[in-house]
Amino acid sequence: MAYQALYRTWRPQKFSDMIGQEIVTKTLKNAIITGQITHAYLFNGPRGTGKTSAAKIFAKAINCLHPVDGEPDGTCEICQAADNGTLGDIVELDAASNNGVDEIREIREDVTYAPTQAKYKVYIIDEVHMLSTGAFNALLKTLEEPPANVIFILATTEPQKIPATIISRTQRFDFKRINAQSAYERMIYILDQRGNTYDEAALKVIANAADGGMRDALSILDQALSFGDGHVTLENALLVTGSVTQTLLGKYVEAVVNQNTKQGLAKLSEVLDEGKDANRFVEDLISYARDLLLYTEAPELVTLVPDETFTQLAKTQSANIWYNMIDTLNNTQQQLRFTNRPAIYLEVLTVKLSQPVGQGQVVSSVSSAVDPVATAVQTDRQSSEQQPTPSPASEPAQSVSHEEKRSQPVSEPKPVTSENSRVAPHVSEDQAAVFGVLSEATRGDLDRVTAIWGDMINMLPVPEQAMLNVARPIAASSNGLVVAFDFDVIRANAMRKPDLLQTMVTQIRELTQAQHERQLVFITTESWPVLRSKFVAQLPKHKQQAPAVNPDIEEKADTTEDNLVTEAKTIFDESIVEEIDD
Ligand SMILES: [Zn+2]
Repeated sequence: MAYQALYRTWRPQKFSDMIGQEIVTKTLKNAIITGQITHAYLFNGPRGTGKTSAAKIFAKAINCLHPVDGEPDGTCEICQAADNGTLGDIVELDAASNNGVDEIREIREDVTYAPTQAKYKVYIIDEVHMLSTGAFNALLKTLEEPPANVIFILATTEPQKIPATIISRTQRFDFKRINAQSAYERMIYILDQRGNTYDEAALKVIANAADGGMRDALSILDQALSFGDGHVTLENALLVTGSVTQTLLGKYVEAVVNQNTKQGLAKLSEVLDEGKDANRFVEDLISYARDLLLYTEAPELVTLVPDETFTQLAKTQSANIWYNMIDTLNNTQQQLRFTNRPAIYLEVLTVKLSQPVGQGQVVSSVSSAVDPVATAVQTDRQSSEQQPTPSPASEPAQSVSHEEKRSQPVSEPKPVTSENSRVAPHVSEDQAAVFGVLSEATRGDLDRVTAIWGDMINMLPVPEQAMLNVARPIAASSNGLVVAFDFDVIRANAMRKPDLLQTMVTQIRELTQAQHERQLVFITTESWPVLRSKFVAQLPKHKQQAPAVNPDIEEKADTTEDNLVTEAKTIFDESIVEEIDD
């Protein structure tokens, strides 16, 4: 005997077999009990939520010779014929497989004849929104003058595509997504009846992956069963669904909300090692966070089956955490669309999520990173309000920054975030420091640092590797190095890590076999265009006033501005210059 798919074999035969649609089934049963039957119904809802099953049960129940409390008895000749598909008075039509004009015409002729065996003729039209305009018109004519003892049940996932003239002639029922708990219980019931064995965790994974559709849940279960030779293992369930386990998700979320970046990255690498898709992972995280948010307020809306980690997180963390997490995840989802290096974005995400929530600095850094213009404007405004205070780290740049002060009083160097960050030694972030490096920058220095950058990162602990994976050296001199970060929040975080900075400075010196340590200047990738044009703009003047500059730039003394930009490419990281030039 050919194998029958679970969702066919276990298609509900009675309203009481249906799960998750209590309101619909109760109303339909009442209609049968009280004999208040209308001639057209619209069953609307997501796929796999039981619309066709309910239609078939309803068709049976209204024709059953001995209905019990609105349910078909399942044993009379009508019920038997309906179950065997031999009852001519119940007609099923799938609008998805043809445009339906001929079929609806046939129905129009057919409805004029009385039912042959049963009391009512029932036409079940699946995916009714797929009918052509012609077919809808034909159907409408029938609905306008409904023959006695004919019932239409129209099922759809997209009611907005059905003409209003049709909808207004139907009684509408909305089928809900089936929550994971119900799907889980139904699978246990089916497997127990069949005598299959299973890991409960496996069924939870399947229930969560089915995303509200019972048919999907049973299809996945079918596959997991076939892999596991009749036993449903967690491993097979994960394989079939491509899901990250709820346990792993939970552990990841637990790590980041506890600000344990290292643990979070370790969990992330488990996820990636399993070959999981980055987008799927972010989506899974969003629904996980969403469920955590709902758990205390509206537990009935939670789609997953809570485990211990989940309930613990829901109990101990405030809603604010989950709101923030969902925001950050949504942003990451946007970024993932434009990258072919998703792992890096997930690492950044992990570092971000591990930041304490509610720190004004983190929030403002994130927003300023989004809008480079705002950042630049803000920098200038702050600058004009305060006297410049060159940090000790910009020492090598001092002669340059003095010149800079005289010529451009408005754009004085001013650390952007120095008020609330404890900036460690070895690093600075102000314009004077950037100009200091640029004025002495050589392509050779940049090449030497770039060549060892990857090796240097590999020598760092994992969380710090993740931070520097979104940073690139963009200009270097013999005693300075400008590093651009894609995310301001990561940049600010890195600046507060004296150990990291010390290691970087030392390793860069050793790996490039340099005589001096290079002072680090951390900027954002977004701020780089502004800084670069300011630097280039002041170059000719700068050359007259401060002769002690890099010979590379000396050569450019008599070149035009355009040439300066071209020349800049030889000093700066070209990829970054190109990004900016457009
Ligand atoms: Zn019956």
